[in-house]
Amino acid sequence: MDYVMTVNSLYKSYGNFKALCGLDMRVPKGAIYGLIGKNGAGKTTLIRIICGLQNPTLGCYTLYGIGSHSSKIVKARRRMGAVVETPSIYLDMSAEENLKEQYRVLGMPSFEGINELLTLVGLENTGKKKAKNFSLGMRQRLGIAIALCGSPDFLVLDEPVNGLDPQGIVEIRELILRLNREKNITVLISSHILSELSKLATHYGFIDGGRMVKELSAEELDAACRKCMRIEVTNAPALARVLDGMGIEYKILSDTEADVFAKLNITSLTNALSAEGCELVSVQERDESLESYYINLVGGN
Ligand code: ATP
Repeated sequence: MDYVMTVNSLYKSYGNFKALCGLDMRVPKGAIYGLIGKNGAGKTTLIRIICGLQNPTLGCYTLYGIGSHSSKIVKARRRMGAVVETPSIYLDMSAEENLKEQYRVLGMPSFEGINELLTLVGLENTGKKKAKNFSLGMRQRLGIAIALCGSPDFLVLDEPVNGLDPQGIVEIRELILRLNREKNITVLISSHILSELSKLATHYGFIDGGRMVKELSAEELDAACRKCMRIEVTNAPALARVLDGMGIEYKILSDTEADVFAKLNITSLTNALSAEGCELVSVQERDESLESYYINLVGGN
């Protein structure tokens, strides 16, 4: 698999306090990677390091296969756009003026593409309105447009929906999906709310105490959070025959236990099992929701 970014045993200390403690991470090309962790888990520290705003204490990372110790990392970083903490925008300027200013900072030869960028983030009709009169969501979208100047193919967003109203959250979500699907931009988004990222992430990294607790794909997370019934019987092979006959998906766990991924009519199951000489001992509903999966992994509130 191709990785846009890898992080290898990264440490960051502030005095005696370790904000990152040997963090490992891999962001596949084309992914929307949700970096999830409680407040203080180390998300912003990691993002500041990969953006070159801070140096790690120990360890390294790669961007497009270029190691952080290489002199070429600066060039690799130009393929990346980021909004870290609050978007860096000039409040006394309009959206268009902000983008022109960023084009100047990047030394771009013309203002070509600015109108397209404004349309992409839904700010094409803001005219001369100054950014200080924008809603929080509009400012966040302007911040993303600024990060997109120079056409990066990797976008890093630190808590992009923090403080936004539900409408603002939907707009940012749709924008991220569009950038990923239509512009093939790999996106790394940090958040402390898993349910928010679960509507768009293709991959997840759960970070806690400066360490990567678990990395998995959206499919793996779905499978881990699937509702199921844990069924105990006297004879699991007989149960398997019955469930096969009913066309129901299951997973045998032992000689007497299985997880069944469907709602069952207990009377029909008992009758069918009885015809196989097998008894139903117990049925337990299991529901590992996203939030409880998260709490099991990283603990706490
Ligand atoms: P949040 O969602 O609250 O932003 P986070 O996961 O982004 O949390 P970080 O901002 O990376 O967490 O902070 C990780 C830990 O490092 C926190 O305990 C924080 O207090 C500490 N920390 C961050 N920056 C500094 C600093 N400059 N000096 C001392 N400690 C710091």
